[in-house]
Amino acid sequence: MKWVYDFSEGSREMRDLLGGKGANLAEMARILGPELVPAGFTITTEACVAYMNGGGEAPSGLDEQVDEALSSLERGVGKSLGDADDPLLLSVRSGARVSMPGMLETVLNLGLNDVSVEGLAARTGNERFAWDSYRRLIQMFGDVVCGVPGSSFEQALRAARSAKGVEEDTGLDARDLRTLSDGFKRIFEEETGEPLPQDPREQLRRAINAVFDSWNGERAIAYRRINGIPDDWGTAVNVEQMVFGNRGERSGSGVAFTRDERTGEPTPSGDFLINAQGEDVVAGIRNPEDLHVLADLMPEAYAQLRAVLSGLERHYRDMQDVEFTIEEGRLYLLQTRNAKRPAQAAVRFAHDAVDEGLLTPAEALRTIDTDSLEALLHPVFDPAADYTPLTTGVAASPGAAKGTIVLSAEEAIQRAANGESVILVRPFTEADDVAGFHAASGILTSEGGKASHAALVARGMGRPCVAGASEVVVDETANAIRVNGTELKAGEPIAIDGSTGTVTVDDVPLVQPEIGREFQTVLSWADELRRLGVRANADTARDAARARSFGAEGIGLCRTEHMFFGEDRGELVRRMFIAAEHWRRTHARARADQDDVDSSEVAAAEEEFRTAVDHLEELQRRDFTAILHEMRGLPVTIRLLDPPLHEFLPLEHFEARVRELEEGGDDAVLERARRDAEVVSELQEANPMLGTRGIRLGILYPQIYEMQTRAVMTAAAKSAGVGDAPRVEIMLPLVAYEAELRQLRETVVDAAEKAKRDAEVDVPYSVGTMIELPRACLIAERIAHHADFFSFGTNDLTQTAIGLSRDDVENSFIPAYLDRRIIDRSPFETLDRPGVGELVRIGMERGRRANPGLVQGVCGEHGGNPESVRFFAEIGLDYVSCSPYRVPIARVAAAQAAIADDE
Ligand code: PEP
Ligand code: MG
Repeated sequence: MKWVYDFSEGSREMRDLLGGKGANLAEMARILGPELVPAGFTITTEACVAYMNGGGEAPSGLDEQVDEALSSLERGVGKSLGDADDPLLLSVRSGARVSMPGMLETVLNLGLNDVSVEGLAARTGNERFAWDSYRRLIQMFGDVVCGVPGSSFEQALRAARSAKGVEEDTGLDARDLRTLSDGFKRIFEEETGEPLPQDPREQLRRAINAVFDSWNGERAIAYRRINGIPDDWGTAVNVEQMVFGNRGERSGSGVAFTRDERTGEPTPSGDFLINAQGEDVVAGIRNPEDLHVLADLMPEAYAQLRAVLSGLERHYRDMQDVEFTIEEGRLYLLQTRNAKRPAQAAVRFAHDAVDEGLLTPAEALRTIDTDSLEALLHPVFDPAADYTPLTTGVAASPGAAKGTIVLSAEEAIQRAANGESVILVRPFTEADDVAGFHAASGILTSEGGKASHAALVARGMGRPCVAGASEVVVDETANAIRVNGTELKAGEPIAIDGSTGTVTVDDVPLVQPEIGREFQTVLSWADELRRLGVRANADTARDAARARSFGAEGIGLCRTEHMFFGEDRGELVRRMFIAAEHWRRTHARARADQDDVDSSEVAAAEEEFRTAVDHLEELQRRDFTAILHEMRGLPVTIRLLDPPLHEFLPLEHFEARVRELEEGGDDAVLERARRDAEVVSELQEANPMLGTRGIRLGILYPQIYEMQTRAVMTAAAKSAGVGDAPRVEIMLPLVAYEAELRQLRETVVDAAEKAKRDAEVDVPYSVGTMIELPRACLIAERIAHHADFFSFGTNDLTQTAIGLSRDDVENSFIPAYLDRRIIDRSPFETLDRPGVGELVRIGMERGRRANPGLVQGVCGEHGGNPESVRFFAEIGLDYVSCSPYRVPIARVAAAQAAIADDE
């Protein structure tokens, strides 16, 4: 088995085997030449998988192949590892198939020991540099390979700085660093019980294993969960000749983006540090300089870097994020990858790349990470609002957020699980905080720049982030932060705007941004390319208007029970249900000829019910008219009532009312309350989500569906009268048996026809059903005979196909299932393709077989999840329907699916 590839053997196409970094180093070496890319080799992801499967044992042949590659590297560069006079130094860096910034490990300056450090000093004539490199090796090897807490080294470093009276590491001279290296070695030995390994080959072997092991480190696992990266991919390991950014004032390290990584503006941006190694930049420990400063400091290297950046962007046909080092004025490239970018930058790049003739619209659309687009629809501080900034930092990830201050990732997770919006405040973030990032609404750090891990991860997740707000002092002992003399305790409110870097304690109103001109253009390309329709789920005229402004081509789901939740309506709805049930029972008893029921009692019960229904009908008609007006000319799917009964008839409410009246109240009223409580008590169900819901309600209380149909049709007649061209689709939920639909379709059609006759207006309408139970998918052929359309309710279908309670599992066992790797994401977020997806496919195909004109869509939450949207497009559904904010995302995801399909 070939486990090791020289850079000259790889290419960008080999990313699965060589990891992103390895594949791109090979590609860069090929296109830029060896002068710009240090020599090296890559150990494959397959080797990592074999290592993991072997319980942490290197697979057979790996050691030998590394030896061979190393000899060839040594020959090529004319130096050898461990040489006492002129040692070859190596960097050992991870590189998974997809980039996981800061989640995996790196060891630099490998190959130094007590002897070769002196050789390096003599050879380079730069003693300070040699000892700085050595102390870095001890620090990184200790931390990464041997688990010595990084803080022990940091403390010693801080002590050295303060003893010398300098602020930055660069203020330490060769002697200080030599002393520091001795101190570091003592720390190493105390913590690990062994001295620092002096054999460079031993250092290399252990560093390679540490990189492999980091694949299963806690933070890497958490990152994979959040980003849906499979656990069995493994990471490659890149072993490369070191180049040194810490060789003095004409050396430095940095990160550069081919365009502004926050806005996408067509000017390179980034950070760098003089006289430092790359880790210092990304770790966010020293506050870096802006890339443009390099133009003054080292104009030649800067000009060369700019030329390389634009060449790489043209070559990769995407915005690049590049790591570079300048060693005594000479530029080296250490990595390139497609830049992770916030939505603004993604859209701006796509737009400009087409404008510049770099990409076609289809290629440009493919560069957009649809998951990140959500951030475009993030709120910002209301520009008209009056507020006092508390402090400012780097605008590291766009969007504004308000929440309570939390100081640890664990607390962020805990509080967010209880529905609280929290802002995670950290001195600087460690990659270990990643799960806390995800839980938080926003992130604030006192150190670090826009290329720090904090910023990268936050942008990737679409979380607003203000980084490097240096006036913020985090005092974990006092459980508080201090900003210029103001103390804020954890739990107090704070607001951040990651688009401007502002922090405030004022309660600033947030506003939703409009879709800008560039995004409109990009969306119009998406609309031309996609075949899947995109509608919105909306229950109010306001949501409908928003959905339309985001490009929804109709409403795919209007949940009428949501319209019943309003404060003024709750009581009316309760009355209606109780009266309906009371009437149903009285009627049944009368029919059974029970002598204690006379016809006047039935009539009274019916009257009570009718009064409640009439009230609601009027309210619904108004709602529907407003929605139809907003959506004029577009289809609107109105779903008839589908609540689990307990949501409308909470027993406690009725029992409390009885207790209240028992304290003192009118006898007749008390008796009525007791009757209500008794009816409600009998209606209680052990599993309401599997109980009297959806069409089952319609079967028991057809009058409610008749009322809703009348309200829809009279609203439609009115809309038609004012030229709103209504296109109503009446939808029946939770059908399991074709007979349910057959019977209630008749009820609905009768009511609709009568309403049309009464209104004397002929409005078109259709009647369809939700498919959200496994049985419905399997017998879709029979159901389709009675339906004009199907809409797959993947929320309930997931619930019933997998047998998971949709209201409970996210907070009960799903986290454990994710930890145990039984699943890699929640099936309520991303459609479970092999199970639930297969049911959708079966339902769709069988439905179409029986009724070729059947229109079929999806209206579960998955309709706005890009990966699920791709699946729905692939199987050939007609449309997806999702929340208004996700409409633009679904439009792009649908276009990407069509583009992929056309290839
Ligand atoms: C569904 O079940 O997917 C659906 C859209 O209906 P609801 O979420 O209202 O149950
Ligand atoms: Mg449902």
